[in-house]
Parts: sequence; C-alpha cells; structure tokens
Amino acid sequence: MGNKWSDRLILSVVPLKSMVRSLFIFKVAHTPRRIFNVFKILLSMKLSRWMKKPVVWGIPPIVMVEPTNICNLKCPMCPSGNGDMARPRGRLDLQNFKKLMDDIGPYVYQIQFWNQGEPFLNKQFLDMVRYAKHYGVMTQTSTNGHFIRTLDEAKAVVQSGLDQIIFSLDGTNPETYAKYRVGGDFNVVMKGLENLAQAKRELKSKRPLIELQFLVFKHNRDELAEIVNIARKNQVERVAFKTAQIYSAEQGLEYLPQDTDFTRYEFDGKEFKLKSELPNFCKRLWLNSTVNWDGSVSPCCFDKDADYAMEFLFEKKVPFKTVFKNEKYMAFRRQILTDRKSIEMCRNCTEGLKEPYARIVEIQDKISIEHFLNEMRQKEPTKVELK
Ligand code: SF4
Repeated sequence: MGNKWSDRLILSVVPLKSMVRSLFIFKVAHTPRRIFNVFKILLSMKLSRWMKKPVVWGIPPIVMVEPTNICNLKCPMCPSGNGDMARPRGRLDLQNFKKLMDDIGPYVYQIQFWNQGEPFLNKQFLDMVRYAKHYGVMTQTSTNGHFIRTLDEAKAVVQSGLDQIIFSLDGTNPETYAKYRVGGDFNVVMKGLENLAQAKRELKSKRPLIELQFLVFKHNRDELAEIVNIARKNQVERVAFKTAQIYSAEQGLEYLPQDTDFTRYEFDGKEFKLKSELPNFCKRLWLNSTVNWDGSVSPCCFDKDADYAMEFLFEKKVPFKTVFKNEKYMAFRRQILTDRKSIEMCRNCTEGLKEPYARIVEIQDKISIEHFLNEMRQKEPTKVELK
C-alpha cells in the first residue's frame, strides 16, 4: 500500500492527485458558509487533540446517510448480509431526509449515501440525491451494482446529479466474484457498469465518476491486474483496492491474503492484530458523522448496530447540530481522547492505521497505472500484463 505523506494529508484514503482531479468533476458550491464551517471544525479538532478535551465548533463537512440497512446479497463478513445485525431493518423516509438536508445542507460538503445495506433498495434514493444537489453538496454512493439493469435506470442515475458511484466488484469472473458476494451475479454488475458508461456518453455527462471497489481476499489476490483491465475497458475512472475488516481469527484465516500488503492485520500465529497503535484520537468525530435510516446518529460507520448511537433525529425533531454537540457525543469524544482502547469497535477500525487501508489506481492516469503494475510485477512477474 502507498504510504506517501500526500496520501495521509487528506481526509480519506484518496491520494492528493486523485482528489484534485475529482474537484474538476464533482459539482460542489464552495460557499463562504461551507468554507467557514470547515475552518471552524478543523480548528476545534486540532485544539481538542492538543488539550485532550473535546471542543466542537461547526458541524462535520462529511455526513454519511443510510438509505436502508436492507440488502439483496449475503456477504459473509457483512452484518447486514450475514444476519448478525440486530437493529430493525427499514428505509429512510424522503421527508425526513429533506428535513435533515434543510438543517445541514448549507454547511456540509459531502453526503455519502451508504452505510449498511444496498442504497438502491430505497426507491426514493435518487430523489434524495436530487434534493441534496439543490444545496450544492457533493453526493456519493456505494452499491453492489445489481439495480442499474437498463439504460433507462442508468440515465436516471446520471440525471439525478450523483457525483460519484462506487461499485463493489471483487472478482473478475462469476466464480471468484460469487465467493464473497453471495447471491450476487457478476454479469448483472458488468451490465450495470456498461449501462452507466453508455448513459454518461449519451447524456454527455462526466458524472457520476465511476469507481470499482475491490476487497482483496485470498481467493482474488491474483486478479488485481485483471480488474484494472476490466476497468479500462468499461470507462471506469478509478479502482480502489481495499483491505477487508474481519471479526474473528477464523474469518482471517479463511479470507485474508497471506502477503501483508493487502491486509490491515498482522497474524501472530494465533490472533490477527490491527496494524495500529490505536492512538487516542479519531478525526471522524469532528469531520464525519453517520445518520442511520431511522434517524439515529452513530459516530461512524463501524457502529454497525448503532450501539453507540447518540440520539434519534426524526422522532424527537432534534436538529443535527444539537445532537452533534450533545453530552453523549462529547463524552464519547472524551473517551477517545483519553482511552480509545476501552471502546470495542474502536479497536478494530481504520482510524490511525500505519498505512492507508486502500490503494487507489486512477485509470485515466497512465503514471498511476504503470506505478501500480510495476509494484505488482515485483510480486508476481508472470501474471501482470495489460491487455
Ligand atoms: S470506530 Fe474508529 S472511526 Fe469509529 S469512532 Fe472509533 S476510532 Fe473513530
């Protein structure tokens, strides 16, 4: 995995170069209110870290919104797919989403439409994207790619104004794909990609930027160069090779690749340990927040069952800004700043990893592809060719 200072500088795992390129594609209004909010929240985050006491000015520039926690697939390590999730299943209501946007829309930069579940299983999902776009925010979703079945469906996605779409595709053929994406159909996903690329061409739209997310497992470790080939042939702009999260040693032994490059854990023969010192800090508690379909607010997407949820927005009609600074949220931040290890989910997350948890390859950028393929050639010289 890349470990450059530029990769670490920014808010997520997207390298600086990719982020700059994205700025020319995404349609975002850089209003004074938005810029001032980022300035305030960054300042309060820095101060909190320094003082080891939480201070919060402003709201997070990135809010994850869960359209639904229902899914059509049964991926074995996903709590939504494997049935481990205990919280009720449901879909976010459009009117509730509108109220949320009216509250936070002028301040946030980005709405990420995902969490647990498949966003397209909420029929009002694209209406939500349209509504968010009125506020000039960047909109992003992540899908298993089974609901862009026709050119018309693809055109509806493009016309909604969605800025970025991430397809989960961790296999280059039906067999490898189905090993993790249980219940999924590789050919349906490929057709979805094709439809979307065609819709973008016909509508002469640069958006949504198409990204493939490839979770690297033992069973697909040999297919990294091939997925780059697939991306090039399908007008995909970006591939993210992502390390997988596991919940037990059994899962680690079954799924994780043996080379340490594409795993966020170290195996000591008995246990898988996260490659992190687990610092007493988490930038997500200032820069991100997660609103689940029922209006409960979780500190981050690792709170799969909303065990650490702060309050319900919709039920009690509480503004997001109030929840973001309420006593429970502040106490959670305090605990992270002094004793992160005491919180179970915070011992198994990507925050504070020594290396980025994803490796991004820009498909339009020859240098990015060559750099990646060279790395791969050093590891497995016979398998890495572009076609
Ligand atoms: S699980 Fe990780 S990302 Fe979430 S609050 Fe804890 S430290 Fe932050």
